[in-house]
Amino acid sequence: MTLRSGRQFLSIPGPTTVPDEVLRAMHRPAIDIYGGEGGGELLDITISSLKDLKTIFRTQGDTYIYVANGHGAWEGSVANVLSRGDTILVLESGRFAVGWGEFARNMGVNVERLQGDWRRAVDPQKVEDALRADTEGRIKALLVVQIDTASGCVNDIPAIRAAMDAAGHDALLMVDTIASLACMPFNMDEWGVDVAVGGSQKGLMTPPGLSFVAANAKAKERHQTADLRTSYWDWSNRDLEEHYRKYSGTPPVHLLFGLRKAMDMILEEGLENIFERHKLLAGATHAAVEVWRQGGSFDFNIAEPSERSCSVTTLRLHDDLRPEPIRAFCFDRLGVTLGLGIGDLSGKAFRIAHMGHVNAPMMLGTLGSLEVALDSLGLIDNVSKGGIAQATAFLADALRT
Ligand SMILES: *Cc1c(COP(=O)(O)O)cnc(C)c1O
Repeated sequence: MTLRSGRQFLSIPGPTTVPDEVLRAMHRPAIDIYGGEGGGELLDITISSLKDLKTIFRTQGDTYIYVANGHGAWEGSVANVLSRGDTILVLESGRFAVGWGEFARNMGVNVERLQGDWRRAVDPQKVEDALRADTEGRIKALLVVQIDTASGCVNDIPAIRAAMDAAGHDALLMVDTIASLACMPFNMDEWGVDVAVGGSQKGLMTPPGLSFVAANAKAKERHQTADLRTSYWDWSNRDLEEHYRKYSGTPPVHLLFGLRKAMDMILEEGLENIFERHKLLAGATHAAVEVWRQGGSFDFNIAEPSERSCSVTTLRLHDDLRPEPIRAFCFDRLGVTLGLGIGDLSGKAFRIAHMGHVNAPMMLGTLGSLEVALDSLGLIDNVSKGGIAQATAFLADALRT
């Protein structure tokens, strides 16, 4: 028997659910990009999107839209501010900062890693110590993610900035916000972030294929002497006036229609409301897991509650339990798609997304379905049933006026 027919619930941490409004905004004929009515409309979308990205990154710096997924923005950001033979320090807290560093290494950058733990956020004290030890100022940039989508941790970016300042180090602070932008606060200028990277398909509720980079004045200054610059990624080319320069070629017309609609929805809901919505839906998820984990089948990957992210929860299975049967049950029998563990957690973990276009019924539906799966599969017992009751109680308390 399967209960799958009906609306499918996608609960993977990217690409996330695309709102019907965004899909509809994209469903229209191609337009003439070279001027006239259509070209004028597209130019307006580019100008307003670059401006609204500044609002979302909270920066007065410059913003860039790449026709590329997040990995493209990784490459684009490195290419604009670094030179062959430069040394950078990658702050490990899971998979993604390390992956960004691998891209830099392949481009000719010397990459050092501040060893981290897949179950903890980056320790700012260790960052300070590493920078103090760099008396010759070899380290040109720090690479860190705000939310690591694999481990499920959130890093304290202001604390990492404070550690850099305490060490008196002038490396660039480069932050990957792909899984956190428009999910939780990110105050680029206030926090002293020099380069920030984002993507369309997570908190920004747009199909994959666009990514974003924001750069402050210090990053633009380093850009002047960076020798990894290539035509496609180059900020200086993109700063030129003509419309096609903004994309180094044809604008991604339909993705821009979608992005424009998604950003309208984000600004209408308001960033503060969006952050609170993510916080509460994450809180409901954590409340449910807190009960289920007592069954002894799995636990939070991130042990410290304050280091758990608001956009994805990673659950690590005990013993030799595998995530595939849980995922298969949820998908085949119930119509919910969960994420699997990746990287070091491959085959050992599963992930629940609470990211982007998600509301209470979607989240409670996902959690309720997961409880059905865990119960049917014998992964929770009488003591550890009732996670969903805790999730609903958590939301009821939070919404009680
Ligand atoms: C998804 C993700 C990426 C990679 O983005 P792609 O669009 O798949 O290239 C990078 N960093 C983080 C934190 C992510 O969540």
